[in-house]
Amino acid sequence: MIEKTLVIIKPDAVGKNLIGEIIARFEKNGLRVAALKKIKMSKEEAKGFYIVHKDRPFYDSLTDFMSEGPIVVMVLEGDDAISKVRKIMGATNPAQAEEGTIRKDFAENIERNAVHGSDSPQSAQYEIPYFFSTLEIL
Ligand code: GDP
Repeated sequence: MIEKTLVIIKPDAVGKNLIGEIIARFEKNGLRVAALKKIKMSKEEAKGFYIVHKDRPFYDSLTDFMSEGPIVVMVLEGDDAISKVRKIMGATNPAQAEEGTIRKDFAENIERNAVHGSDSPQSAQYEIPYFFSTLEIL
């Protein structure tokens, strides 16, 4: 099934000049960039994006990290895009990520883990409009 998913290149990876490398990995796996921009979130915007994690012990630290510098947000489209992106990213904790995944290769630790990808169609439905209007998704 053709799906859309929201992907973020997080501040750690943007700071290491990995934008092109990371986008190439998605494109080489048949995903198409439908929307893309570089932005910097405020702490409040990061808190809103990660609202599902508001009761987790790492919420404050995670939202500090996600607002510390620029990020690249994009909508990727393709067959089974949501699960495909998650597979290309690898496990949340890079110590558990498979060889050849983005997080295995570029993540620093469980928090500073280079990329985000929506984990379900419901998440994608919240996350895509958080950053993009319908006019920006092509
Ligand atoms: P994801 O779907 O693989 O991104 O993982 P989650 O939805 O569980 O967590 C969201 C984000 O919170 C992760 O990508 C990490 O940046 C961060 N995170 C997850 N678990 C932990 C943790 O145990 N400690 C810290 N500090 N950050 C975490």
